[in-house]
Amino acid sequence: MPYKGLLMKKINVAIDGYSGCGKSTTAKIVASRLGYVYIDTGAMYRAVTLYFLRNNVNTEDLNTVYSALDMINITFEKNNDGSSDTFLNGANVESEIRGLEVSSNVSAVSALKPVRDKLVAWQRSIGDKKGVVMDGRDIGTVVFPNAELKLFMTADIGIRSKRRQIELERGGKDLPLEQIKDNLLSRDRMDTLREESPLRRAPDALELDTSYLTFDEQVQKVVDLAKEIIYED
Ligand code: C5P
Repeated sequence: MPYKGLLMKKINVAIDGYSGCGKSTTAKIVASRLGYVYIDTGAMYRAVTLYFLRNNVNTEDLNTVYSALDMINITFEKNNDGSSDTFLNGANVESEIRGLEVSSNVSAVSALKPVRDKLVAWQRSIGDKKGVVMDGRDIGTVVFPNAELKLFMTADIGIRSKRRQIELERGGKDLPLEQIKDNLLSRDRMDTLREESPLRRAPDALELDTSYLTFDEQVQKVVDLAKEIIYED
């Protein structure tokens, strides 16, 4: 595809949307195709949730929540195949944060203001220098309201559930489709209805329905949209 100018500018790409639309898988490949950094903000909320579950943090008591947050250090490490694993206080928790226990509790934990304040500040500092593809629920509305490209991904719930089931199977986790569907719908509900930065489409975000797109088509669409802006006159 022809790009207009010769000057390249560095941009931030914000990808939001419902659970299981393929935001993370898309964002990861888009970032590598653009030579950008990929940040999975859902993994951050999941790692905090795992810490809270393991340490029985009383989420009703905000002082306890603040103290617990001070004990948490989250890092990402790249694997040889280009994927990256999430580390909580130095231990690899990639598999555990994708399990049903964390998935069932993450939306309640991520609705807490202190949790959001801490993670949003961190996410903004990563995006300061641009060249970031970040996916989550509030990236285009709260984290990077000035992102040059904002996308809001949607997909049919049956298709989302099936895709998530296949993804979990690949990680060795066999779960019934109904259970996966219930989890996706209940997270969508909580993420949309919460008071603190609820899941919303930013007014200037482009909606991308991925129900009937192949993965390659979906990636190509986002890369093309990003390049249009990167090479703009
Ligand atoms: O993206 P993923 O499905 O892994 O996110 C897990 C959960 O983390 C979401 O259901 C949502 O409750 C929370 N989350 C959030 N804000 C983000 C990213 C994730 O509240 N930016």
